[in-house]
Amino acid sequence: YRHGEASEVVVNTPDGPVTFGEHHPLVVVAGPCSVENEEMIVETARRVKAAGARFLRGGAYKPRTSPYAFQGHGESALELLATAREASGLGIITEVMDAADLDKIVEIADVVQVGARNMQNFSLLKKVGAQPKPVLLKRGMSATIEEWLMAAEYILAAGNPNVILCERGIRTFDRQYTRNALDISAIPVLRNLTHLPIMIDPSHGTGWAAYVPSMAMASIAAGCDSLMIEVHPNPKKALSDGPQSLTPEAFDQLMQELAVIGKAV
Ligand code: PEP
Ligand code: MN
Repeated sequence: YRHGEASEVVVNTPDGPVTFGEHHPLVVVAGPCSVENEEMIVETARRVKAAGARFLRGGAYKPRTSPYAFQGHGESALELLATAREASGLGIITEVMDAADLDKIVEIADVVQVGARNMQNFSLLKKVGAQPKPVLLKRGMSATIEEWLMAAEYILAAGNPNVILCERGIRTFDRQYTRNALDISAIPVLRNLTHLPIMIDPSHGTGWAAYVPSMAMASIAAGCDSLMIEVHPNPKKALSDGPQSLTPEAFDQLMQELAVIGKAV
């Protein structure tokens, strides 16, 4: 069990510092799965900010199951994230898949995301542990809590104390109705075991936009510190993860509902 106080992860954004942690207001991260073009990323940034999000998420490098699926726009998408950061004042969270891209990601990202598929890429973990930006570590889709915490330990041991843990659903036998099984019990378990801030991603956790609001609310009830929600201006046209993406209107509605149940902004 954990010894001592909950850690705070303070992230500097253009709008000022934002703190993730047990004793701080809920921090909401929102944005599309992939950065598609300037117009959509800037529009999404403005809309999610108006609704109360503090960070914009968006992938430049995408870990797709099929090599023939859209892989992300790469470096040019990083520039679009920088534009959206300037335009909105939001902090930026984006995924690193390959250590070779880390330096240019660190230049524009306020938080570097390690995705589920790389949770046990130990050489990548050591490298994100050796750079200065906070790290968002997603749970591997078949990782135990112990494996996940040990993966976080790789980052901490490499010298970076600013790690946020993100539960994003684990493999389930029923993939017809949900993409993953969101492990909400991970929230109180992690609270017992670790000082690190806890984020929940109900978008990848369920795979369907219709189930995101109820799982977001359940996660807050269970005590999470942060939420990551996929939002796209036109989910039907999204290049990745459209079915699980909220429209900006649905996201705004959700934020209003979250404000009522507490720990919210
Ligand atoms: C994502 O955040 O878009 C993503 C690919 O998530 P995960 O690594 O949890 O699948
Ligand atoms: Mn996605």
